[in-house]
Amino acid sequence: QLIDAKFESGKPIEFSKVSAHLLPTVLLIGRPNVGKSALFNRLIRRREALVYNTPNDHVTRDIREGIAKLGDLRFKVLDSAGLEAEASSGSVLGRTAEMTANVLRMCNFALFLIDARDGLQPMDLDVGKWLRKHAPGIKIIMVMNKAESLDDGFGSVISAVSEARTLGFGDPIPLSAETGLGMNDLYEVLRPLLEEHMFQIVDEVADETNEDCESCVEEESKLPLQLAFVGRPNVGKSTLLNAILQEDRVLVGPEAGLTRDSVRVEFEFEGRTIYMVDTAGWLKRTKSEKGASSLSIVQSRKNLMRAHVVALVLDGQEVSKARKSMTHDEIVIARRAIEEGRGLVVIVNKMDLLEERLYDRVVQAVPKEIQMMIPQVTGIPVVFVSALEGKGRIDVMQEVIETYKKWCLRLSTARLNRWLLKVMSRHSWKDSAAQPKVKYFTQVKARPPTFVAFVSGKVRLSDTDLRFLTRSLKEDFDMGGIPVRILQRAIV
Ligand code: GDP
Ligand code: GDP
Repeated sequence: QLIDAKFESGKPIEFSKVSAHLLPTVLLIGRPNVGKSALFNRLIRRREALVYNTPNDHVTRDIREGIAKLGDLRFKVLDSAGLEAEASSGSVLGRTAEMTANVLRMCNFALFLIDARDGLQPMDLDVGKWLRKHAPGIKIIMVMNKAESLDDGFGSVISAVSEARTLGFGDPIPLSAETGLGMNDLYEVLRPLLEEHMFQIVDEVADETNEDCESCVEEESKLPLQLAFVGRPNVGKSTLLNAILQEDRVLVGPEAGLTRDSVRVEFEFEGRTIYMVDTAGWLKRTKSEKGASSLSIVQSRKNLMRAHVVALVLDGQEVSKARKSMTHDEIVIARRAIEEGRGLVVIVNKMDLLEERLYDRVVQAVPKEIQMMIPQVTGIPVVFVSALEGKGRIDVMQEVIETYKKWCLRLSTARLNRWLLKVMSRHSWKDSAAQPKVKYFTQVKARPPTFVAFVSGKVRLSDTDLRFLTRSLKEDFDMGGIPVRILQRAIV
């Protein structure tokens, strides 16, 4: 879905319609055994969690991330339990404190868990102190877990609450991650906070004068590019990577502190730093599952989340034989890349195996078919290569970089509003009397580009209108292969 939930003041936000990358992030934090993992599991239900391997001090720790579902609320939730695996008494959060601080920076809110049964422990005080120091801009909500165990009357809840209040983060919400008791109270506290956060994203822009923003694009697009090659086993990903790396200065190898599986490949291309995301994952799989033809969607999903640009590799010979250019799995991956807000480049490999007639047919048919199968994005670049012969590898990297630059694009409000004037007159409105009034148009963020249309009056932009604006924006500013989002905000 390209069109995000419509933000209108006075109307509740439909969180289920907000794209994942715009959702607020909530960290679960607290000393070991307070029930962070239990709460995490309850919040994400049986949904899939992403595990980040965070290398530190030669030990890999896992931070789990998932999309929490609490009533109609949705947010990203991070479970920091893995971070304290080695926290020894005395040094709360152990040697991972710095890492936790980094993780905290990715978050908008933190749920600080304490244990109702144990009462306040010295370690809770340490966590509190630490949070106060490291999370000044982050709203902290205290949660008193295992509250179902306080069954000896109301009095014990009250005394536990007032004890916890001394930490200075307000009254804790008593709940039980295990039984689900009190989850509705958590909802009541979180809803207004998360909603306020969503409105802020849009508000920030309203008074921002971003006249000079085009000049910073070059700087931003110089930041390291995270690239993921995805595709079924045997389509030629390893061969292609080797072909690309041969020419350019290469830096391959396990870094100190990374586990053996986490080989990071980093290289320069035309003065840019490129990080290959999770190359080891498929390198390893290719070795162990030779002949397997399915593409692990779960595995690829992880890669997608970390990549700026996703390069989907197809096997040209199979494309020429099959009725469709892409298998079901490949379409799912491509769509997901776009939904997750990544840039997409499609690579058709093994073109050396095709005789001339077939070659031409494939080159003609594939871009059209891809457009039909992934209508959400226009102009997805398709590159035809032979990794084995080293043909087209430069083209691959150039397309990747072009896509990345588009992904970093920033357009000034002035330019966008000149564009808006023209484009609004091009659109045939359903009923001209009830034409929505777009007062102005502005870019809220880049990477990927996200825009807000400020609409006044009674009429809102319909999905058709938003689709029209999105398509025009992409065409007029040449944003092929990247997801572009337009949000709508009512102004009075
Ligand atoms: P973490 O180290 O903070 O991630 O804590 P865990 O989620 O691993 O929980 C530690 C222990 O507390 C486990 O034995 C859980 O079963 C237990 N636990 C978690 N939540 C509750 C709860 O709400 N009530 C009770 N009685 N036990 C809980
Ligand atoms: P991966 O599983 O996607 O990493 O695929 P590999 O790079 O291991 O390649 C699988 C097989 O396809 C190997 O036997 C390669 O030699 C072969 N291959 C890769 N690229 C090409 C190509 O451009 N042309 C031809 N003819 N074979 C290729």
